[in-house]
Amino acid sequence: MAAITRLLKPSPLSLLFKQSLSTTTTAAIVSDIESHHHHHHTPNFSDPKPSRNFQWVFLGCPGVGKGTYASRLSNLLGVPHIATGDLVREELSSSGPLSRQLTEIVNQGKLVSDEIIFNLLSKRLEAGESKGESGFILDGFPRTIRQAEILDEVAEIDLVVNLKLREDVLVEKCLGRRICSQCGKGFNVASINAKAENGRPGMSMDPLLPPQHCASKLITRADDTEHVVKERLRVYYEKSQPVEDFYKSQGKLMEFDLPGGIPESWPKLLEALNLDDSEVKRSAVA
Ligand code: AMP
Repeated sequence: MAAITRLLKPSPLSLLFKQSLSTTTTAAIVSDIESHHHHHHTPNFSDPKPSRNFQWVFLGCPGVGKGTYASRLSNLLGVPHIATGDLVREELSSSGPLSRQLTEIVNQGKLVSDEIIFNLLSKRLEAGESKGESGFILDGFPRTIRQAEILDEVAEIDLVVNLKLREDVLVEKCLGRRICSQCGKGFNVASINAKAENGRPGMSMDPLLPPQHCASKLITRADDTEHVVKERLRVYYEKSQPVEDFYKSQGKLMEFDLPGGIPESWPKLLEALNLDDSEVKRSAVA
């Protein structure tokens, strides 16, 4: 019932976010969750509700590849990829009133306050709605239980993909990460060759090198240093890992162990999602 009334809510998501923030307390949200979310259903990835577009979430440690895979799926499915980390970095570079305070928090690997994140996110959703966007693939959000609870108040999430990779590889990937300062695309200069040990298989990943026109414009994120990456991992385990269980108990979590780099992982991910690259493209054109 709750799910149905939520779907029928006439207001755009961005507005609901604002209302939800101003009118609900965490306690109220928690009681709502307790009374409405005892249903356990199996997600049906291949058959999205026809009345609206995909509403997906990507979870996973820093450096796991959320941005890479969420952006590929966004192109494939025609839904916007919304990364709160990107929104935060845009705010940082805008030299707005928040930017100095935010820079300090982000560069220490800490989380920005839920309020700031909700503000950035509802602005982004509002801008998208006015351009006729529908659906989303969220990346880097929700990152706390409170964020997940508020998201649940305003949207019915179809599927949560939890990407996983061994921790030594995560750190190496963050250190090799580069961003084109002009187009914003992500690349990686690391050549990863993690040995098999303690029963874990080895893993190798080729670098993801930029095209020539991006190569001279690459920048490294200030929070991609070894020290800050380790802090971000610690913060993930403390604050964000509980979000995995939150969605697991709703039956929405799909765990996905990345088998390697993009060439090995992308086809396997599509298979796990019951999506076929060529078919989706055809139906998108039709
Ligand atoms: P990311 O690009 O996802 O690694 O995000 C970069 C930084 O932005 C994080 O380390 C946080 O400081 C901040 N940030 C991004 N998303 C969130 C969120 N949902 N909640 C709190 N802080 C966030």
